[in-house]
Amino acid sequence: MTNHAKEKTVLVIPCSGIGKVHGLISREATYQVTDELAPGRTDTLCLGLLVRRDDEAVAAIKRQYCITIDGCPKACAEKNVQMAGGRIASSVQVAAAFKRHHGARPGTATDLSKDGWMITREVAEAVAGEVERLHDGKEVS
Ligand code: SF4
Repeated sequence: MTNHAKEKTVLVIPCSGIGKVHGLISREATYQVTDELAPGRTDTLCLGLLVRRDDEAVAAIKRQYCITIDGCPKACAEKNVQMAGGRIASSVQVAAAFKRHHGARPGTATDLSKDGWMITREVAEAVAGEVERLHDGKEVS
């Protein structure tokens, strides 16, 4: 991918969230956006690369708009992108989506239930909508 092509994409960055269903939802929602809802307009990046300040990853988050997806209010993805100097266009939290679905049973840290996939889709659609907004506003073209 050329640098020009890379600038046209928005980076969707999930938290790592291993061992929590919230983290699994943040990762699955990311894949739904990059692979299904906004392919070609989005890409993703491993949060661990930012934690260890990988030069290429840090340059990418400074050059491209980023949307973070965090499992919970600890906001590990948002905070790490901010600390590394990234351009955050929007931040989404899975835990906030749960507040709209009281009593939902999302499954486990390794296996989502029907409720879990419904919340995943809702998060992914919110992120895809934000990507659309960035393209419509010509922040990215
Ligand atoms: S934001 Fe919450 S779920 Fe995600 S990695 Fe941090 S502590 Fe875990």
